[in-house]
Amino acid sequence: MIISGKELSARLKAEMAEQVAGFPAKYGRVPHLVVILVGDDPASVSYVTGKAKASEVVGIRNTTVRKPDTISEEELLALIRELNADDTVDGILVQLPLPKHISEAKVIETIAKEKDVDGFHPLNVAALWQKQPCTVACTPKGIIKLLKEAGVTISGKRAVVIGRSNIVGLPVAKLLLDENATVTIAHSRTVNLPELTRQAEILVVAIGKPRFVTADMVSEGTVVIDVGVNRDPETGKLCGDVDFAAVEPKASVITPVPGGVGPMTICCLMENTIECFLRRQH
Ligand code: NAP
Repeated sequence: MIISGKELSARLKAEMAEQVAGFPAKYGRVPHLVVILVGDDPASVSYVTGKAKASEVVGIRNTTVRKPDTISEEELLALIRELNADDTVDGILVQLPLPKHISEAKVIETIAKEKDVDGFHPLNVAALWQKQPCTVACTPKGIIKLLKEAGVTISGKRAVVIGRSNIVGLPVAKLLLDENATVTIAHSRTVNLPELTRQAEILVVAIGKPRFVTADMVSEGTVVIDVGVNRDPETGKLCGDVDFAAVEPKASVITPVPGGVGPMTICCLMENTIECFLRRQH
């Protein structure tokens, strides 16, 4: 079964649009998301455009603030502090990566925890690991939704996550653990990776290497979630970390790239913005 994140996210966005349509009568306004884009990296521009389009579909007010890549760290932090203090703003997202002269850690820490729709703030991360209420990072949250939508039982399964980044690998491993999977996290120093991945009943791949996971690394019936977004070196087209054509016949469930995890990430950003808005109303 190929799970379409595109279809699921369209359905969830339509449900959110209905919910948001009732907000002006109840709260006097709709949620407001501010996205800050520094520089003009084409991938970042396209992500920010996608976020603006999704906001429009859901009925969320979206303000995209564009700054040149010459902006100083202090100027960017001052802008974030201004937005933190602005009562009309519910969510703040700074599109990553940032130019080298700006500390991403400082930027993430400066965003108010209550407006951190990306779920990257250290307090949100700490809350996730302590099972406290928090904003969960969008990509890992979307992956769990996809698994549930596909009817995959997570509890008791052997899950292998390849990748240990703060934004995907680590939080998705924690969410799988919270769903009672037995989780192994693999990375670039893992020895004999294929032996490990062949034991996986659920395999989440977040590396950033085109078609890294080949058919011999996957057992029959495995659930395969491909997080990677890469340019195919031969065709220049988007492709994942999994060799889809070779792995799909062996997998019981698999996500395509594009149209799998990516749309779910944006969908969860919309959900996080609504959650931040509602928490601020109450
Ligand atoms: P990242 O920060 O670069 O982390 C990559 C991880 O892969 C690291 O933990 C690294 O191990 C591991 N790795 C690299 N080479 C490996 C190898 N040969 N064997 C085993 N592990 C290896 O990347 P990321 O931010 O997590 O993103 C991963 C991919 O997901 C990228 O393609 C990114 O574009 C994509 N992504 C997609 C979405 C979406 O919404 N679809 C969202 C976020 C990211 P070490 O820790 O040992 O270096």
